[in-house]
Amino acid sequence: MSKKIQAIRGMNDILPTDSPVWQYLEGTVKELLAGHGYNEIRMPIVEQTNLFKRSIGEVTDIVEKEMYTFEDRNGDSLTLRPEGTASCVRACEEHGLLYNQTQRLWYTGPMFRHERPQKGRYRQFYQIGVETFGIGTADIDAELILMTARLWKQLGIADAVTLQLNSLGSNEARAEYRAALVEYLSQFKDQLDEDSQRRLETNPLRVLDSKDPNTQALLKDAPQLHDHLDEESAADFAKLRAILDAAGVGYEINQRLVRGLDYYNKTVFEWVTDKLGSQGTVCAGGRYDGLVEQLGGKPTPAVGFAMGVERLILLLETLQVIPAEVYQTVDVYICAMGDGADLQALLLADKLREEHSWLRVQTHCGGGSFKSQMKKADKSGARYALLLGESELADGTIGIKDLRGEAEQQTVAQTELASWLTEAMV
Ligand code: ATP
Ligand code: MG
Repeated sequence: MSKKIQAIRGMNDILPTDSPVWQYLEGTVKELLAGHGYNEIRMPIVEQTNLFKRSIGEVTDIVEKEMYTFEDRNGDSLTLRPEGTASCVRACEEHGLLYNQTQRLWYTGPMFRHERPQKGRYRQFYQIGVETFGIGTADIDAELILMTARLWKQLGIADAVTLQLNSLGSNEARAEYRAALVEYLSQFKDQLDEDSQRRLETNPLRVLDSKDPNTQALLKDAPQLHDHLDEESAADFAKLRAILDAAGVGYEINQRLVRGLDYYNKTVFEWVTDKLGSQGTVCAGGRYDGLVEQLGGKPTPAVGFAMGVERLILLLETLQVIPAEVYQTVDVYICAMGDGADLQALLLADKLREEHSWLRVQTHCGGGSFKSQMKKADKSGARYALLLGESELADGTIGIKDLRGEAEQQTVAQTELASWLTEAMV
């Protein structure tokens, strides 16, 4: 026997037992987004490598060590997208969607990063991303955050997530702060962890989210970002906080929250949970007013976020808040025994589906004993088994067995079945 081929490490199959939860989560989010007037955009999974280098930044973790980059057959350098924002900006520019108009967009799909696979961290993972363009005021930042807060409520996880909030200020303010931080940290250069020593040269703000305890201790007396905030950013941040306060959305201001991508300015935020170990960020985003211009467009304010679908599903499972009916994909299962019964069962199923478009009907296929058919009916998760045997065929009736209750088996006329089901299930 030849050796079986396996999936690539860190790239998961989503099995039929799990896909109902994915559909439940995606369905809930899609409804929420529709309720806010957001439109879907779908971008390719592969882009020119330069798109990500120019947007995410050359000296970020993603570009330095996480991208799946390869040459295609004509020698062009292509990359499997590690995130969606850059592609979304590229697509909007390419199709003139940012000209004299605002956009509220969302997308979902796989992203690819070559990281060490572990719980909540994979090499192919899914994000639901939201991006808005053309609005520079804090009300839209608040809209995005309130929308996510509503989602956590709907999913039943509001108590398990907290909002971390920061303002990175304007580019000038950040440059000023960067200089102050570098000056301070340079005194202790030898005591910093290795990554931070390197980052001190290349991307000093990233030192702020070093996990090294020594580095963290040194940061206690470091200059504070908010002492360098420009007036406009400070006012916008105050406005955002006022809206969140009025709406009753709690937050924690975290001046060390800088995010791993280069393009952010002003508002940045993360929703984090302590229920998933160190992969605790389930949703992250912020403002990126400079990115459109950086990629060749006109200056366009923009703000967005992305949720990690696997992490949200892990959280739903951990908290056991997935409604039982999510897993139920069949309502009635039709069993048939005897000459001509299988044909009659298919016709009856078809008629039922026509009468009740909401009803999920599965017919037994492949024959077998009555007992084995009933086993399949039970395993399907259906609420009712519908039974067609010789006597039912002869007198135009059908047996109904409640698979989830104690009720005795009943017999009704086939012509009455549709209304019987309406009564029982609606
Ligand atoms: P982390 O700090 O956990 O590496 P990140 O800052 O790299 O996250 P973003 O680029 O902001 O993540 O992506 C947004 C969200 O996508 C994250 O908050 C997380 O929920 C999810 N995510 C990011 N990388 C992965 C991954 N490798 N596997 C699964 N989910 C991921
Ligand atoms: Mg990361």
